[in-house]
Amino acid sequence: MTKGKKAFTYPFLSFFLPLTSGTSIIRPGWTVLQKVKSQETTLPKVSTDDNISCVDVLIQTKTTKPPDYFTESKLVVALERIHKYVPDPKIKAILRENAGIGTEGTREDRIDITRERGYIERVKGKGNKVKSTPLGRFIRDNIHPSLTNPGTSAMWDEFLNLIEEGKQTKEDFISQIEAQVPIIVKETLAIKFPPEFVGIVHRCPECGSRIKRFKRKKGKGSFWGCYAKEKHADGQAILFMDVKKQPGERIVQVDISTLPRAQCPESECAEQAVRMKSQKGKFYWKCPNKAHPLRFDDDGKPGAVMEFNKKTGS
Ligand SMILES: [Zn+2]
Ligand SMILES: [Zn+2]
Repeated sequence: MTKGKKAFTYPFLSFFLPLTSGTSIIRPGWTVLQKVKSQETTLPKVSTDDNISCVDVLIQTKTTKPPDYFTESKLVVALERIHKYVPDPKIKAILRENAGIGTEGTREDRIDITRERGYIERVKGKGNKVKSTPLGRFIRDNIHPSLTNPGTSAMWDEFLNLIEEGKQTKEDFISQIEAQVPIIVKETLAIKFPPEFVGIVHRCPECGSRIKRFKRKKGKGSFWGCYAKEKHADGQAILFMDVKKQPGERIVQVDISTLPRAQCPESECAEQAVRMKSQKGKFYWKCPNKAHPLRFDDDGKPGAVMEFNKKTGS
């Protein structure tokens, strides 16, 4: 309340000042030819420092109301008439001239996308009135300001006008955009979203990028991985086991060429079986011929056939 008091001083005082409206004709002009007299209230002549008396005071009790929510169709109109919401007179003029943001064909889609992404939502029981979501407001406040400022659209339109007039070139425009976009993308990717929007974020221990959960292409289950290969010392993806939908131990990718080998015991197999290490840390043998079963390790040599392999047939 104390904050609002100052701002409302003037309108507040105006309740006590003689409020009156009307016209005071100084020169009648062509209206002398008019036979019917104007119905408008004519104001008495007053000058500075005149004393006036208060005849009546009327107190009206009212409460301020926030502006009503926009409907989706009103939002589309607001995009077209975005200049109404822009204070800068130069940008305002360009936006007015170019009919706002987007085109007739794209504005409705924009609103749909904004809703589908959860930046705005329908207000319950209010038809298609919409309001911003906490996620929408977070994004608005954290992304590069050029992405939320209607002035960006105005600047681009202005640039296109200059190209049309031959004062700028297409190449100038493209090179400017090419210089700006990486900065905007970099800043956007660096935004740290609070857990209430994205759940717990798991980060790669090597590069700090966010690691994501993937479905295995073969077989059941999932795994986690960071594919920012260029940021890793060995240039390879870093993968993790999936333990109760959370990233578990790191899956170490082994260079098979360095592993111990031995003749595959399957009859008439000429291949060299390779001794691998399971995720539980146990050795087993695998033949390059995929039809041949996995075998237990028997003191550094291929041992008995692993039975589970036969049952699943993989
Ligand atoms: Zn990484
Ligand atoms: Zn074999």
